[in-house]
Amino acid sequence: MAARPAPYLDELNPAQREAVETMDGPVLMLAGAGTGKTKALTSRIVHLLNTGRARPNEILAVTFTNKAAREMKLRVGRMLGQTIEGMPWLGTFHSVCVKLLRRHAELVGLKSNFTILDTDDQIRLLKQLLTAEKIDDKRWPARQLAGIIDGWKNRAWTPKQVSSAEAGAFDGKGIELYAQYQTRLRELNACDFGDLLMHVVTIFQKHSDILEQYQRWFKYILVDEYQDTNVAQYLWLRLLASGHKNICCVGDDDQSIYGWRGAEVGNILRFEQDFPGAHVVRLEQNYRSTPHILAAASGVISGNAGRLGKELWTDLPDGEKVRLIGHWDGEEEARWIGEELESLQRGRRTEKGQSLETMAILVRASHQMRAFEDRFLTIGLPYRVIGGPRFYERLEIRDAMAYFRVVTSPDDDLAFERIVNTPKRGLGNVAQQKIQLCARKHEVSLLEGAKHLLAENGIGGKGGTELRKLVEGFDRWIAEARSERLSHMELAEIILDESGYTGHWQNDKTPEGPGRLENLKELVKALEQFENLQGFLEHVSLIMDNENEESEEKVTIMTLHGAKGLEFPNVFLPGWEDGLFPSQRSMDESGVKGEEEERRLAYVGITRAERLCTISFAANRRVYGQWQNALPSRFIDELPEEHVDVLTPPGLYGGGYGAAAGGAPQMEARATKADAYNSPGWKRMQARANERPTGNPRSSRHLTIDASAISSFTEGERVFNQKYGYGVIVEVDNDKLGISFDKAGDKKVLASFVVPADKA
Ligand code: ATP
Ligand code: MG
Repeated sequence: MAARPAPYLDELNPAQREAVETMDGPVLMLAGAGTGKTKALTSRIVHLLNTGRARPNEILAVTFTNKAAREMKLRVGRMLGQTIEGMPWLGTFHSVCVKLLRRHAELVGLKSNFTILDTDDQIRLLKQLLTAEKIDDKRWPARQLAGIIDGWKNRAWTPKQVSSAEAGAFDGKGIELYAQYQTRLRELNACDFGDLLMHVVTIFQKHSDILEQYQRWFKYILVDEYQDTNVAQYLWLRLLASGHKNICCVGDDDQSIYGWRGAEVGNILRFEQDFPGAHVVRLEQNYRSTPHILAAASGVISGNAGRLGKELWTDLPDGEKVRLIGHWDGEEEARWIGEELESLQRGRRTEKGQSLETMAILVRASHQMRAFEDRFLTIGLPYRVIGGPRFYERLEIRDAMAYFRVVTSPDDDLAFERIVNTPKRGLGNVAQQKIQLCARKHEVSLLEGAKHLLAENGIGGKGGTELRKLVEGFDRWIAEARSERLSHMELAEIILDESGYTGHWQNDKTPEGPGRLENLKELVKALEQFENLQGFLEHVSLIMDNENEESEEKVTIMTLHGAKGLEFPNVFLPGWEDGLFPSQRSMDESGVKGEEEERRLAYVGITRAERLCTISFAANRRVYGQWQNALPSRFIDELPEEHVDVLTPPGLYGGGYGAAAGGAPQMEARATKADAYNSPGWKRMQARANERPTGNPRSSRHLTIDASAISSFTEGERVFNQKYGYGVIVEVDNDKLGISFDKAGDKKVLASFVVPADKA
């Protein structure tokens, strides 16, 4: 077949072209961030197809995420100028392995319709095994065992193959329990995530005929992000490629960030030994980031030992330096970033305004996300969270809010239904039906119906006792809420405690348990900004109701790990504090391995930015409800000064909106503030910080609903709201305003989110 013209080759530099046009034999592209590895890999697929070297279904291409796979398929299609049907083998390791395993499941004792367990199921199953073995789950949690087993599977060790060095694992019972677990999975016709790869490797190792069949079928193999492959993935690739050896791997040793999950950067460094005669291509021109951003990233990563060391250059214009700013606390950081995003959207100085799609906030830990979500909800800035539901959509948050709803409006039957048997109280369908019937008979709410049912002795046993406890609880909480004796934060904690909801997650030993508890603490913390529970619930429901459709432009919030391979014109990197980034865990470890992985993560973060990169840290941060003082991250010291602009932290000098922020315990904060800014290189910041007047002006919390503002609104008044723009008030209902917006139409908005038009 004659090759069609290849305009895609013209878009490549000579080194990339070489990697694309060297079609026979092993090729390794080892190069720094943004040098066009993924682009070259994609072009290579196109080239293989275009030159007729392989049909779409004869190419095996593995990416790290499903998103990356989709993107790659799209690009291949675009470059070829036609839609690509049937690249069934372009996907993640897991998605490809599921397909393979379904075809040969019987060889590892499964049926082809096997189910894939999620982490919850996995833990539940392990718990059952521990109970059967009379192993105390408190001392030897199932979660820990799951971690150990995952680690073995990452190395493709079946129970028989587990190294004898591991014999002591899990109190010496690990290997035996692993064997039992695998047996149980087989009985259930199920496998877990780690099995997908391990089973396929086992099949290939035991059945050479099957292996040979695939070796012949996959004429070309391509792998992106090779530095993050674990041993099982590596074995799998080596088995498949050892026939024709047409394997092309691309990666960057400086971006290896999954060591904690069993990835071995050694795989990429060993490539030339594994595939003798490999063609190694190095790319040095970065097409993504400005020189300042690149230099800042290089400065940080140079702190790691044992690197291959790659020089990167770019011919893009200098652009802005990397910006660095310290804040008083995490909320102030979120507020400041919110304003920055809006100013980028409006257009700064002489710049044109930019779409929110160009902006991303990349966090080290997912608990950092809520401060941003809350701030953006408040100012009406559209955002998306990648890798997890948005805060207020999470299960535990919706449950907790259902309790609050019953307390603030006891007739809220939907909320009551949601929590009557959450946590489990022995009030299943039958009991709930009884409550329903009784409520209907007396024409009252479910809560009242439950009281009638109890009075009429219509429910007994454990369910009856528990229902009585719940109903009495609600009576108490409702009375407390009315008396306003306690703060609503205290009340919220009492409700969650006494109802058993907090305890339910404390006893939960799944990997999600601790995170859910953290979220509940975060929820209570979020309440502080409101006058009472009701105000809070209204805030959330107003915001959720007015959710816009998916087509809207949004800011992206995601973790650094999830951002691998992606790029954004404007990147914000908050939370650069020792203990958060690098993580406390990596700092506690002996040796530098953990810290070096964190440093690579910092490198990944900075190199996601195309034009503007902003790093920030806070002196005080509330983590899981506890205030903590923090020192600026050690990685900040490693940013080369000539490529960094230190911005004035607005909160420190009582200027800007800082006067309204705060909430950190003052003594604690003052004792360590000098420390916080004492890192070498930031003398300027420290000097300024010391000039700060003593007396902390920030005693009250921000965003209290300003009563004078509420009462001052009248019908017919022209107002402005961040999200909906200008409009006229058509209805005043206490603190809720009905507004007819010029562009957005009629909406209900809390008065606190509105300003008079002439003050906008
Ligand atoms: P990472 O290490 O972060 O995964 P990468 O090496 O895979 O980065 P790509 O994402 O492929 O880099 O490319 C980075 C950016 O540079 C993309 O926007 C891409 O379109 C662009 N680019 C790549 N090669 C070229 C080229 N030869 N000419 C112009 N732009 C290019
Ligand atoms: Mg890439």
